[in-house]
Amino acid sequence: MKVIDHLENAKGATQFTFEILPPLKGQDIQSIFDAIDPLMEFKPPFIDVTYHREEYDYVERENGLLEKRVIRKRPGTVGICAAIQNRYDVDAVPHILCGGFSQEDTENFLIDLAFLGIDNVVALRGDAVKSETYFKACKGGHKYANELVGQIKNLNQGKYLDEEILNCTPTDFCVGVAGYPEKHAEAPSLESDLYFLKKKLEAGADYIITQMFFDNQKYFEFVTKCREAGINIPIIPGLKPLATLKQLNMLPHRFHVDLPQDLIDAVVKAKNNKAIAQIGLEWCIQQSKELKEKGVPFLHYYSMGKSESVKKIASALF
Ligand code: FAD
Repeated sequence: MKVIDHLENAKGATQFTFEILPPLKGQDIQSIFDAIDPLMEFKPPFIDVTYHREEYDYVERENGLLEKRVIRKRPGTVGICAAIQNRYDVDAVPHILCGGFSQEDTENFLIDLAFLGIDNVVALRGDAVKSETYFKACKGGHKYANELVGQIKNLNQGKYLDEEILNCTPTDFCVGVAGYPEKHAEAPSLESDLYFLKKKLEAGADYIITQMFFDNQKYFEFVTKCREAGINIPIIPGLKPLATLKQLNMLPHRFHVDLPQDLIDAVVKAKNNKAIAQIGLEWCIQQSKELKEKGVPFLHYYSMGKSESVKKIASALF
């Protein structure tokens, strides 16, 4: 079932959902099941699975020349989605990127998903690979997520890239896109970011999932600004409990989010990571309670493969 249909069926009740990432290459799928099993009692209507594009590194050959190697550290998004649907009978939502995909690759990826009975995707641009400063589309690929949404919606109308194919079967994907309450790192202003967020809606996006945030006010203001800008699709808040001292700097650096001063003060005063994890947990529970009271459709947690804290949060709320 599609994410927007789950929303409709809930009739205003807030539902619990979460995101997982594929295991590092070499690990087996049991680690994914171990992360999901403890969370199933909270009846997630869908589970997101992230996509991780290729990375490049250079190894020195015997002749002193450098050889460029392409590696994908976390492959398996589609396989995991199929396994989730098969094992738990829950909708899996794979993320799909512009980065590393030509339009032809995208079409073939979507055909695989459709054949597996997967009818949800989150369409994203992806970040620049480590060796590049700015994001670069690959040859024949999309530059921005709105173009990717457009291709998916074309396929939903039976428009394949090869116009000579006759009697095409339309796909039926529900498409989520990313939104940034504290603006995307590359956007010159929140207004500019909202302008392009609206382009994703105009291309056919069905709902938005936000980047993590630690101050609910940022989410509420973002929703208000979206509505004022005519962005009227559901906006699902994404949450992550802060868990270690290192994350105090890592989260702002990597995800371009601010941490509230009260949270920083409490973390700095904490004796060890166990105490920090407890502070992060309680903070996230408070955030979740307030968002639930305000009637958000889903509370979506970035589990990062660690279900223990997400389970504690879900136990306090659902
Ligand atoms: P876009 O919507 O394309 O926006 C990128 C930037 O370009 C923004 O600054 C925007 O304002 C600007 N812009 C947008 N459209 C245009 C246009 N037409 N012309 C000019 N400027 C434009 N990354 C992964 O690699 N794998 C994942 O699974 C993954 N999952 C994510 C899930 C969520 C909920 C979120 C919030 C992020 C996720 N990311 C993931 C990270 C995401 O790929 C990066 O944040 C990326 O830098 C931007 O992706 P986007 O889809 O928001 O890009």
